[in-house]
Amino acid sequence: MFTIEDIRQRARSLAQDVFTPRAASIDSAEMYPWENCFALRDAGFMGMTIPKAYGGAGAGYREAVVLVEEVAKACGVTGRIAVEANMGAIGAIMAYGTEKQKKLAAELVLDGDKPAICITEPESGSAATEMTTRADKVGNGYVLNGTKHWITGGGVSRLHLIFARVYEDEEPQGIASFLVVRGEPGAEGLSIGRREPTMGLRGIPETEVHLKDLHVPSDMMLQPPSGLRKGFGDLMTAYNGQRVGAAAVALGIAVGAYEQAEDFIQNREQFGRPICEFQGLQWMLADMSVQISAARALINEAVSGEGFPDKTKAAQAKLFTSEMAVTVTNNALQMHGAAGYSRRNPVERMVRDARMFTIGGGTAQVLRNVIASDLLNRKFPQTRDGYVARSSGKSS
Ligand code: FAD
Repeated sequence: MFTIEDIRQRARSLAQDVFTPRAASIDSAEMYPWENCFALRDAGFMGMTIPKAYGGAGAGYREAVVLVEEVAKACGVTGRIAVEANMGAIGAIMAYGTEKQKKLAAELVLDGDKPAICITEPESGSAATEMTTRADKVGNGYVLNGTKHWITGGGVSRLHLIFARVYEDEEPQGIASFLVVRGEPGAEGLSIGRREPTMGLRGIPETEVHLKDLHVPSDMMLQPPSGLRKGFGDLMTAYNGQRVGAAAVALGIAVGAYEQAEDFIQNREQFGRPICEFQGLQWMLADMSVQISAARALINEAVSGEGFPDKTKAAQAKLFTSEMAVTVTNNALQMHGAAGYSRRNPVERMVRDARMFTIGGGTAQVLRNVIASDLLNRKFPQTRDGYVARSSGKSS
């Protein structure tokens, strides 16, 4: 039932029949597309990567990127939901979680919840390890205080995976993450703050998340295999899945814009001939198709192994695809002339939607740092008082 070809075909039909007709109104109303979540759920696409033992289909990331591309072709917002329901926080929880945590997360996602991952803070973006949200050990639990920012799904997501700096008796223990279900008794300390009015992907809220004396029981701390002190690395390894997922959304948006442009230039006539007869546009289209294929190859390479994608391959895939999507959507708009600049045209939305992917989930500059560090087999601390030291082995 969940072969790659089956997923492609079923996702394509769902996207054409259900998501395409809704995409413009989701953007203009800036409303979270619950109906699309439920359509994904009913098709078995929410939590498709959750192991069968927990109610999912046990699909891998190879399958997930195909789903995401097809969905994002029609609607970038719904593509992002497909990522977070299969490749983001849910991947980390399924890999590192306890039975209780896995069951909790699986139940929510399979029911249509898109989990939120809470890392970024107002003063800690690219420098994620400079986060100041703290989790103080108190009795048999932790008390979280801090503010997260740019949290995708703030106010709609129920399951939150919150990253915080852990202290026991004021002694720093490392960075860990905690599962919190918004709206559940005991989670009153989690509240949703200001929503950012975003350029694109407007159907999904980006908000602040305030944590004020939020009590989290110890059994809701996600224990990465390397232990608390080195656990942030494990959590970031899981995040490589989300990164490739973001690349697959950008790819889908680019393909959607490419298809609009290809269709348009065959039908629009100027100077008494279809504009596709002009070599200037033919070469643009050819370049766009090559860039799309190259991006898809990098994404497929990143998900070709078992488990979480390799850090460098994930960074390469997201870097190339995000920049490709900015170029391809802009070129698609250009090929439409004024028609592409109208908000009646989906390409206008696709240009705005594509713009995010060189920023969120690791900026293009930071991803270049990650790739260069691996190529040179050195760590390059970015703080002014950092050091340059040859790492003992290749980072992965
Ligand atoms: P900054 O870190 O302030 O960077 C500003 C500029 O400086 C950028 O151009 C950057 O590339 C550059 N720069 C910074 N450091 C370096 C360096 N060392 N070398 C070279 N250049 C550098 N976060 C979450 O935790 N959860 C989410 O769900 C989430 N969703 C998001 C959704 C959207 C739409 C967006 C836009 C962001 C989201 N984020 C989320 C936050 C995102 O991960 C951060 O925006 C990103 O990590 C960059 O941080 P920043 O925006 O603070 O930029």
